[in-house]
Amino acid sequence: MRRKLVVGNWKMHGSRAANAQLLAGLKEAGPWNADVAVCVPFPYIAETALALTGTSIAYGAQDCSSHEQGAFTGEVSSAMLADIGCRYAIVGHSERRAYHAESDQLVADKAKAALAHGVTPIVCVGETRAEREAGQTEAVVKRQLAAVIHTLGHCCGEMVVAYEPVWAIGTGLTATPAEAQAVHAVLRAQLHAATDRSGVMRILYGGSVKADNAAELFSQPDIDGGLIGGASLKVADFAAVCLAA
Ligand code: 13P
Repeated sequence: MRRKLVVGNWKMHGSRAANAQLLAGLKEAGPWNADVAVCVPFPYIAETALALTGTSIAYGAQDCSSHEQGAFTGEVSSAMLADIGCRYAIVGHSERRAYHAESDQLVADKAKAALAHGVTPIVCVGETRAEREAGQTEAVVKRQLAAVIHTLGHCCGEMVVAYEPVWAIGTGLTATPAEAQAVHAVLRAQLHAATDRSGVMRILYGGSVKADNAAELFSQPDIDGGLIGGASLKVADFAAVCLAA
């Protein structure tokens, strides 16, 4: 009932030449049964849009401002993202929470700004290794999601949620399918209490998803696809993950 979604998060990788090759390769490899998107660095969004014209692969950004417009040097608004055809904006990635001190409330405000312009926020939540070891996983992800639900109100049913345990990102460590499913079920229940759209909302898993573990993760009842870092940078790897969805 929920169509799977696989999103490549290129992070701060790429060049015009490398992107052209990667996107051309993906165009040839697709289409897939799942919805597929790439979230690319800001300077490359426009060229990505051109490269993907006429394909079913969507594109988006890795962040957006919580502000509408104005004197915010270095920021990119969701209106600008909408203007160049972005379908998605990742918000609250753990790298931004950690390296740019983004608070739960700022993440929520960014999600709200994105939705206001028809850009679907992919809201990331996830615990650190220390938090998991302290038995705080549920409390942490619920707190992060609660801020977004509270701020979006009845619109919260329009977002995509991504569970990305921080300890699994770029480490080669993955939550087991059962561990991930357990957290996804908690998030689904929290959404259920907030919106009648919880049954159709997509909750992605991210953290060292690769061709060889994707199918089992994606077969879990509440895992509706993936947010893919490293494996989104090579055509064969990303195509294999999309095929598994
Ligand atoms: P990796 O797939 O490289 O672990 O990254 C996951 C991630 O952070 C996607 O947003």
